[in-house]
Amino acid sequence: MSLVIVGTVAFDSIETPSGKADRVVGGAASYIALAASHFVREQELISVIGEDFPEEFLSTLESRGVNTDGLVTIKGGKSFFWEGSYHEDLIGRDTVTTELNVLEGWVPVVPENSKSAKYVMLGNLDPVVQMSVLNQIPSPDLVVLDTMNFWMDIAMESLKKVISKVDVLMINDEEARQLTGFKTLPLAAAEIHKMGPKTVVIKKGEHGAMMFEDGNTFFSPAMPLEKVIDPTGAGDTFAGGFIGYLARLGDVSWEAKKQAVVVGSVLASFTCEDFGTERLQSLQESEWHTRMRELRAMVKFRSIRG
Ligand code: AMP
Repeated sequence: MSLVIVGTVAFDSIETPSGKADRVVGGAASYIALAASHFVREQELISVIGEDFPEEFLSTLESRGVNTDGLVTIKGGKSFFWEGSYHEDLIGRDTVTTELNVLEGWVPVVPENSKSAKYVMLGNLDPVVQMSVLNQIPSPDLVVLDTMNFWMDIAMESLKKVISKVDVLMINDEEARQLTGFKTLPLAAAEIHKMGPKTVVIKKGEHGAMMFEDGNTFFSPAMPLEKVIDPTGAGDTFAGGFIGYLARLGDVSWEAKKQAVVVGSVLASFTCEDFGTERLQSLQESEWHTRMRELRAMVKFRSIRG
């Protein structure tokens, strides 16, 4: 398996200005796997769920080439549960509840045939679990890490340890400020480089994403959407599109990463169009190809003569 992903597989209850969704299937790894499945035929999903989780969603993942041998079901256990509420601007959000449930104390095991993976996506969950997965994969070409303020608040030391081992750190602007104490994104990125990652991707929601590597900076706008129903999982979708695209190319160059940021931005825009993973599940290749062309047209202009 060339791509291994780890992250939460969860139930989410979400409230946005458009309405509410109660206990829909979500979790960082669910969005990542669905997004990456547009690019890679096989991937390994490492996570943990309770007996309460619907079989149907697991079958959906499997039908898209997601191997679930590393997805453990705990007998009698309850799946990770997250409840969030969005502000009117659809950018700010408050976490109402985080129930770790089966995630607590779980030790991940990477199946033997995935230990040779070249692409590793350490999606949002306990940094101790992220580190444990990384330790089981001896020679990856690219390791991407995503995290969240929740883990900065309760596990900063373990988080810094795993950050020091990865190639790409992917976080949102608010989290970059929290992690580094710097207000501007170039300064925050420079501080993150010092912590280890060669590449820093900072997601800015509807304002796009910035990438920093070796003194180079790249910016991709987000697709301007007329209606945003639920931005939950947009960051994870971005991450899945980013690493899935690179794994498909087998290329970790700066040019490939620039394309991957645009791919991630475009896929993430679809996730915002419905609650949960629904829109990502129904997404057709022709739809995201069209949006790639539209985004490209929006940023192309003739060079300016002085
Ligand atoms: P995003 O909107 O991209 O930040 O991701 C939201 C997803 O992350 C939801 O589906 C949640 O189930 C999941 N999530 C929320 N809090 C956490 C957490 N502390 N650790 C791991 N996953 C989380």
